[in-house]
Amino acid sequence: MRARLIDGKAMAREIRTGLAREVGELAARGIHPHLVVLAVGEDPAGQIYLKNQARQCAEVGIRHTLKTLPTTKTEEELVAHVMSLNYDPDVTGILVTLPLPAGIDAKRIQGNVWREKDVEGMNPANLGALLYGEQLTTPCTPLAVMEILRRTGTALRGKEVTIVGHSNIVGKPLAVLLVNEMATVTVCHEATADLARHTRSAEILVVAVGKPGLVTGDMVRPGATVIDVGITQIPDTGPDGKPVLDAEGRPRLRTAGDVDLATVGEVADLVTPVPGGVGPLTVAMLLANTVARARRLAAAPRGPR
Ligand code: NAP
Repeated sequence: MRARLIDGKAMAREIRTGLAREVGELAARGIHPHLVVLAVGEDPAGQIYLKNQARQCAEVGIRHTLKTLPTTKTEEELVAHVMSLNYDPDVTGILVTLPLPAGIDAKRIQGNVWREKDVEGMNPANLGALLYGEQLTTPCTPLAVMEILRRTGTALRGKEVTIVGHSNIVGKPLAVLLVNEMATVTVCHEATADLARHTRSAEILVVAVGKPGLVTGDMVRPGATVIDVGITQIPDTGPDGKPVLDAEGRPRLRTAGDVDLATVGEVADLVTPVPGGVGPLTVAMLLANTVARARRLAAAPRGPR
């Protein structure tokens, strides 16, 4: 492969080491970051992610509490629960795990997390602040992409960047962060007429869609930096192309990104692998946001208004 693979796991480890030091310094001043993660029902796919999150919080010294509420909770009860956490002085960060049960307005629940305790940056006031170039709390995945670009020494000023995917949690906030750094940004989505024309013009290409193999080598500019945000579980296949089965005879799953690494790796200069690229950095950014919230709350201890 021609491209260099970006080691997101190693970058995340470095960030956690720095955070552990910072948490130790805060503890010496009596400041103890405490993240409360709210989940409604037990989504089996999410359990591994939540366990991983809890383990990494413990590693850097952040207290982590998972509150799993029954799916019978109404939207009003969930809002009331979030409000009680907003006012709880023992809690410094709040994260609402998605998906929420059908019929619950996730935007309303996330919007009720007090912006000072919003570790995901999904409170509309925090998202709005981004437009002014302020970063109170920024969504974790866009931050992870920016961190990768910074750590690989990728200059942004005047660069042609294409983002594929315009979700509120990834594509849109990332576009704002990049424009704030004076990059020239194109954002593509399902209605984009000629996706390859836009991906081929990009010096930096970020793909955040959730469709394995969407971007192939012929769609990438030679020498580009390619950041693959996509995470999809697909059936694993052996060298003969047949599905690999687990011990119980069920198809084994593997994690796939949106980028076809075999062909893109022959054209690009730098590529993030999946797994081991953006994912570990996203969790590291969640920890960083949690520590930053605790520090700021201690400096300006006001209640939610
Ligand atoms: P999402 O809300 O489903 O957004 C997907 C975006 O892709 C939408 O903007 C959609 O456009 C666009 N899209 C769909 N098909 C397309 C196509 N053929 N060509 C161009 N654009 C297309 O998903 P998300 O939450 O942003 O997540 C995207 C992916 O990143 C998922 O695989 C998710 O699991 C992964 N993810 C990874 C991390 C990480 O830490 N690595 C974090 C978050 C998400 P329309 O809205 O117009 O349909």
